[in-house]
Amino acid sequence: MKLTLHEIAHIVGATNNWSELADTEIHNIEFDSRKIQGGDLFLPLKGARDGHEFIDTAFAQGALATFAEQEVAQPHLRVEDCLEAFQKLAQYYLEKTAVEVIAVTGSNGKTTTKDMIHAVLSEKYKTYKTQGNYNNEIGMPYTILHMPDDTEKIVLEMGMDRLGDIDLLSKIAKPRIAIVTLIGESHLEFFGTRDKIAEGKLGIKAGLRSGGELIVPADKIINKYLPADTKITRFGPDEDIFVTQLIEHKNQLSFTTNFLDEEITIPVPGKFNATNAMLAAYVGTLLDVEEDDIRHALSHVSLTRNRTEWKKASNGADILSDVYNANPTAMKLILETFQAIPKNEGGRKLTVLADMLELGDQAPELHASIAAAIDFSKMDHVYLYGDLMKYLLAELPEDKVSYFGNLEQLTEELQSTLQPQDQLLLKGSNSMKLGTIVEELQN
Ligand code: ATP
Ligand code: MG
Repeated sequence: MKLTLHEIAHIVGATNNWSELADTEIHNIEFDSRKIQGGDLFLPLKGARDGHEFIDTAFAQGALATFAEQEVAQPHLRVEDCLEAFQKLAQYYLEKTAVEVIAVTGSNGKTTTKDMIHAVLSEKYKTYKTQGNYNNEIGMPYTILHMPDDTEKIVLEMGMDRLGDIDLLSKIAKPRIAIVTLIGESHLEFFGTRDKIAEGKLGIKAGLRSGGELIVPADKIINKYLPADTKITRFGPDEDIFVTQLIEHKNQLSFTTNFLDEEITIPVPGKFNATNAMLAAYVGTLLDVEEDDIRHALSHVSLTRNRTEWKKASNGADILSDVYNANPTAMKLILETFQAIPKNEGGRKLTVLADMLELGDQAPELHASIAAAIDFSKMDHVYLYGDLMKYLLAELPEDKVSYFGNLEQLTEELQSTLQPQDQLLLKGSNSMKLGTIVEELQN
């Protein structure tokens, strides 16, 4: 970032006398005082503790100035609300640099789609993206203010905890292209209904530039939230854009689309990733990336850690680890993917399913509904873990399923039963800690 203190003070409407530093150029802003380096601007935010408590540390680390909501001894820009100032600054910086924004929201697939779009656009443009999961009212401005100076396009992930969150993020970012990957069931606990989730996610239209394009799933639930005067592209079977001829291999997927000439292959499993990749390919065509370059980028794409990934157990067994998060849509899709893969010679197909959290009142029936996606002609045994999985337990044949209330016991059971030829799928919410089983099996 390259902004003078004068410019920053003007944009955020600083009310004090900051003029002695006016012409100084600021290159970096941090809200974690430990990350401050010489010449940086500090941003005290209110979290578990009040960031103002760390202003001294920030200056000890070399901060040149700080934002502040109260009088402080050090050089500062006095504002009413530091977070709001940060957001205003990010919005201004995007406008000033004229970097074009591609925004991605949705119940699942945000990070993956964002990573894939970034890969595709990087073939033609200097492209930056949300690092990891920095997708909220703090993380998104942070991403914007940390993009390299030569950035031409930025792909921003937008996450939500409350209605209105995506609205705000979209108004800051003013995307040229806005994508909703999925209206799923995650967050049902806080939103009550899928309809409310749809309303929240469609907040992404709030800041869409005129002449921009909104890309949404063909899901009736969003219809009433679609803007009238905007180019809307729907994806899904027989819609504006869609995946055809999807072929799943163990470590990769191939598919064609209705808008590119040739087949795309991506080095990641999971049916849903074909949709994510198709969306990335479509954004590439919208922004004039050559088809060959799109295919090339997607054939090399790598995902943010812990998303759907094949790993090897120490005894040689194959592990399909999808332990980052879980909701009914994704759980059913990964089961389809796993069941479609041929068994290894003499090996079994085993699956560990753990609770899907944050589903609210509908959690029992949503867990039970997974039974319909399990095909015991293609699966030998299912291990269930967690209180909510008792609802699925009741739906499955007794001799094909084992229930565990305890992670250590489940880990021990798997360690003793897993044979080198076996294939094991693990899926559950992040806080169910299935990742620790994967690690144990690899050691
Ligand atoms: P978060 O809300 O934590 O930021 P996210 O929306 O960024 O999640 P990803 O990190 O891309 O989502 O993917 C998380 C998991 O969601 C994947 O491991 C996979 O199981 C599932 N998933 C990914 N893409 C899709 C999709 N298009 N539809 C349904 N499920 C998906
Ligand atoms: Mg994410």
